Amino acid sequence: MSLPCLQESLNTATQRLLESGIDSAKLDASVLLCHVLQKPRSYLLTWPEKVLTEAQYQDFNALMARRIKGEPIAYITGEREFWSLALNVSPTTLIPRPDTERLVELALDKIGSTPGKGLDLGTGTGAIALALASECPHFEFIGVDIQDDACVLATGNANKLGIKNARFLQGSWFDPVADEGRFQIIVSNPPYIDEHDPHLVVGDVRFEPDSALVAADNGLADLRHIAKHARNYLADGGWLLMEHGFEQGEQTRQILLDMGYQLVSTEQDYAGQDRVTLGQFKGRNECT
Ligand code: GLN
Repeated sequence: MSLPCLQESLNTATQRLLESGIDSAKLDASVLLCHVLQKPRSYLLTWPEKVLTEAQYQDFNALMARRIKGEPIAYITGEREFWSLALNVSPTTLIPRPDTERLVELALDKIGSTPGKGLDLGTGTGAIALALASECPHFEFIGVDIQDDACVLATGNANKLGIKNARFLQGSWFDPVADEGRFQIIVSNPPYIDEHDPHLVVGDVRFEPDSALVAADNGLADLRHIAKHARNYLADGGWLLMEHGFEQGEQTRQILLDMGYQLVSTEQDYAGQDRVTLGQFKGRNECT
């Protein structure tokens, strides 16, 4: 059998993905082909007539079979870029979303020039903590995740990227930071999808862990838990920023207002949807 060249492989693969109902067929086919070749995407344009080796052909077909079954590209390649950082990802964690970069932008806005500490709850790959740490060398960040595997992954990402001012602790929400003092900023992209949300049975989320996606109480339970306890961990004037679902802005603002946060507002993601709600903690009115 004669082996196909890069262009032919790309065309056939794009066609197969389209037939399986995958919208991003051409992009996915080229990402997978480049992953097999261990080359940048420009290589496909430069060498379209280059013929695959038998091993590359077999590998490409194996990756294509996984994609056709719906497995997310990021889990197949083991990588996803976030805030221009090449992060390793695994099925233990959520795949970082471009919308979460909005949370990073808003958090950077609130981080002053004096040294301080930040906390990222449910850090997963470490995406948010690492993005903030890479931008704020004068801050120290702690990322917490209940999954030990996620902490190992996030620590590996910090090492791979040479980021020294972020470390990762295993445990439930605030438990591992009980002795870490107070933080100038607390951020989180917690699970916020209702367990009956039809969105959970389509696309990439089918392959992502429920522990990173689904929360009780119409998806609000973890947002509420974080807002409640963050008051005991925020420094005076510190900020809490949480990502949430596009229909949860009003409820999340109400949660923050009920708990005494000030300057509460909701900001939109790049698609113009409510995505991040923030509030400032004033004073140390210890709470129940
Ligand atoms: N925004 C993600 C989605 O809708 C969910 C992220 C989360 O639950 N934290 O796919």
